[in-house]
Parts: sequence; C-alpha cells; structure tokens
Amino acid sequence: MTITEVKTHLIHVAIPEASRVESGAGLKLARQMCLIELKTDEGISGYGSPSGPFDLPLLRRIVELFTRHLLGADPSHVAHLWHCIYHGEVSRNLGNRGIGVAALSGVDVALWDLRARALGVPLFELLGGRYHTGGVRTYASSIYWDLSPGQAAEEALRYVEKGFTAIKLKVGKEPRQDIERLKAIRKSVASGVEVLVDANQSLSRSEALGLLPALEDLGVYWFEEPISVDDIEGHRMLCQARRRVRIATGENLYTRYAFSDFIRQGAIDVLQADVSRTGGFTEVRGIVEAAAVSHLDWNPHTFNDVLTTVANLHLVAASPHPAMFEWDVTHNELMTKLIKQPLKVRNGQVAPPADPGLGVEIDWDFVASHPWSGEVSIGLGYGMRR
Ligand SMILES: [Mg+2]
Repeated sequence: MTITEVKTHLIHVAIPEASRVESGAGLKLARQMCLIELKTDEGISGYGSPSGPFDLPLLRRIVELFTRHLLGADPSHVAHLWHCIYHGEVSRNLGNRGIGVAALSGVDVALWDLRARALGVPLFELLGGRYHTGGVRTYASSIYWDLSPGQAAEEALRYVEKGFTAIKLKVGKEPRQDIERLKAIRKSVASGVEVLVDANQSLSRSEALGLLPALEDLGVYWFEEPISVDDIEGHRMLCQARRRVRIATGENLYTRYAFSDFIRQGAIDVLQADVSRTGGFTEVRGIVEAAAVSHLDWNPHTFNDVLTTVANLHLVAASPHPAMFEWDVTHNELMTKLIKQPLKVRNGQVAPPADPGLGVEIDWDFVASHPWSGEVSIGLGYGMRR
C-alpha cells in the first residue's frame, strides 16, 4: 500500500455567544480544525487532526512541507516516516516545539489509522489491546471563570447527575474567588466525586504556592498547568510542597524531551501528553512508558475535536495508567456533529469505538458546510491582557 494523496480540510464552527467560555487560555470564539486525509492506492484513507488552537492556513502549509516524505511511501513504516519528517522538516526548520510537532502529530495519527484500517482492527488492539475493559473513566471539562460559587455548584451537580464522577474547574483569575467556587462545589457533590483544577499557566509561582494549601484542604485531585511551562523549577517547588494534590502539566509540552526535563527534576506528577499535539502515537507511546518507569501518571489533554479525542482514547484504553480522561462538555460541534455516530459517555465512562482504525466515520456534509474563511478561534483573554 502506498500513499497517493495528502489532503487538508480546514473547518470552522462558530460558538454561539451565550456558550463561549473564558479561561487563562483566552476567550473561545469558535472551534476549528485542520482535518488531514491520507489517501492510498488501495482505496483506504487515514485521518488525523492536530490538537489546536493553531493558525489553520499555517497548519495546511506545514502539512504540505511534509508531503515529499509521504507521497509514494508505505504507511506501515510509520516510525521511519516520523523520523524523516521530524528531523527533515520540524526540528531543523520549524523548531522542536509547537505547531510543527502538532502538525506531525496529526499526520502520525492518520498513518496509524491507515495501518489499523488496513489490518481491519481497532487502534487500541494495535496499541496493545484493551486494558480498561469496562470503559475509560472521564472527567467533565470544565466549569469556567464567569460563574458565581452558587452557579458553579449547580453546574457541578448537573454533571454528577449525568453520571460523571470527576469534574474540572478553571481557576487562576482571582484565587479568593477560586476557593469560594471550589468550596461551593465540594459542598454540593458527594465526597466520592473528584474535583480537578486548571489554571492554564495564568498564576505566578508565588500565587500557585499560596493557593496550594487550600487545594489540599479541599481534597483537589490535581492542579493543572498552575504556572508557566517555562518554569520547571517552580513546578519542582510545587511538587515538593504538595501532599495529596497531584501537579499536572503537558498540554503545552512537545515531544518526550520536554517531558524528560520535568521528570528528571521531580517537577511533575501527571503527564498530560496529548497524542494529537505532543508527537502522535509514535512519540506519546514513549512518554507513556517514561511515565510508568518513573511511577508517574499519564492522563492526556484532549480538547479540540472528536478525532483528537478518539486518538487519545484509543491509547488510554490500551494503557495501564489509571484513567482520568478529559471529556469536553462545552458547546463543541466538532465533538458532536463531525462523525456519524458521536461518542457517548455512559455512567461517567466512555469506550473506544470497535470498528477498524480510529473507528469513526466522518460526516462529509458537515465538513463541506463549515469551511474556514479567515476567522480567528480565540479572543484576547485575561491571561493575555495583563
Ligand atoms: Mg488544561
């Protein structure tokens, strides 16, 4: 089997004003994706998507740069293709962190999708077989900044009533309000429900260290992206200061080398390497092993579209790490309408599709009716204004 065509489809779906959310990552105006399609001479296609938000025409141009390695290649030689692209186009040209690695991640997912489709097996089988046999535990992502403590508690309760056993709260704008909202949520949901917090790197080192004792007292499960990912020493200080709360980061780290710096310095408890951003299955499988060897957890970030989500889900399903899988509960039609049979959370758990490859069928009518035409997806948020 050889690759005969590399296509990209740029998709834009506006978020209705009443459903827009704001965190330290900014104000979300739209959902966008660069859907990568690899066609072959055997009539099978593989699909992947870089987990954004990234500039869509830039992603398209970068995938075009990769095409010279892909056209005419056998997609089963995925590790070789990964290295040709990484060393040929990414590390020497685009840089070893950021959008180039994300674009490579989308291509890598499409190559693995092709391999599994050609073999007629679901991806989790190819990645080691299903480990989480009863389904993968999810957490509701997320409760946002603009809610009062009472509203946040009500929203948390709604997720619990839907079957979620874990919920994430966005923090980092005003620590005193964060604590009030956390207290209200903790009071409203049963003690068995885990509460996670995510600051999207918007706190200073001293603010994060100052917030930590309250998070401990309130039994928070993890403290995600507390501070800038450039501050490894600050993460190490948080890891030394924490008792029960896990320090989580990784949605803005790229390749195993970025994670190895955190691991070596004892600056991380939960590695959030995203298959569709950190380097694809080829790279993240190594990160999953590194986490296991270091007695740390791997719980991927995933928050873009259903292809990025289902890619991570297949690897989680085949991984022995305790599952705590991010489930986007915001208004996101790229989760609910892009494929013909949307994934469903039942009793707080989700199972990977059992059809070959990623196991999803794209609704091409939806793709055709949501073309990107120059819109931005993120407005200037609090973290970018100060
Ligand atoms: Mg996050």
